[in-house]
Amino acid sequence: MARFTILMYHQVCVPGSAAEAKYACPPGRFARHMRYLKGRHAVVSLTAIRRHLEGEVTLPDGAVAVTFDDGFRNNYTDALPILRRYQIPATLFLIAGLVGATNRWMAAADYPERPMVTWDEVREMAAAGMEIGAHTLSHPRLTELAPAAVATEVAEARAVIERQLAHPVDAFAYPYGLCNEPVVAAVAAAGYRIACTTRPGFNRPGIDPLSLRRIEVFGTDAVWRLAQKIRFGCNSSGVTRPLRYYWNRLRAWV
Ligand SMILES: [Zn+2]
Repeated sequence: MARFTILMYHQVCVPGSAAEAKYACPPGRFARHMRYLKGRHAVVSLTAIRRHLEGEVTLPDGAVAVTFDDGFRNNYTDALPILRRYQIPATLFLIAGLVGATNRWMAAADYPERPMVTWDEVREMAAAGMEIGAHTLSHPRLTELAPAAVATEVAEARAVIERQLAHPVDAFAYPYGLCNEPVVAAVAAAGYRIACTTRPGFNRPGIDPLSLRRIEVFGTDAVWRLAQKIRFGCNSSGVTRPLRYYWNRLRAWV
């Protein structure tokens, strides 16, 4: 099995506060990221990854997938045209209970209020080839909820999206990347076949399809940082990272 990498984005917009800068990739920069990916990597859908994990298809080595968490409206207004321009397949993980609302789960921190996508926009994105996954109903910390509440957040999100899109939903992303054994079991019981954490790293043979690793791309990442993150499979991409990477490889080899 080839190694593959999943990237995580949030918003595509000019950041409105210092806190938001990490999660908001300005459109011009996002376009440069996508142009780079298109030129240098095989960019594949999560469905292709799922089918690969289920033994149906092979992936090109070093394949990369693009995902967005939460379902901000700027994914429709600003990311979708760029994805289409570069013909990049991508997955949008929706907070099913906040479609058409605002990012109120972020209200306590220093984040501006932002609109979320509407169901009409989601349908248009799906028609344009974007894959739609679930990211719970209300973005809770699943590891802190009672089992019944976990089951509702996970299963209802899938049911709501399937009802709205009339299309099966296979993919899930854990809010804040938080998961443990009971949460993963609830995701499996709800019928999801592939799920993304925020644990950084490459996905290698034997990876659990419900605990996939993802690299977080920050809004502040220039293209060279994105390239370095993909090359080394990490979120922190300081200048010492390549040295540490080769040092660890050398140690493993010795
Ligand atoms: Zn989220």
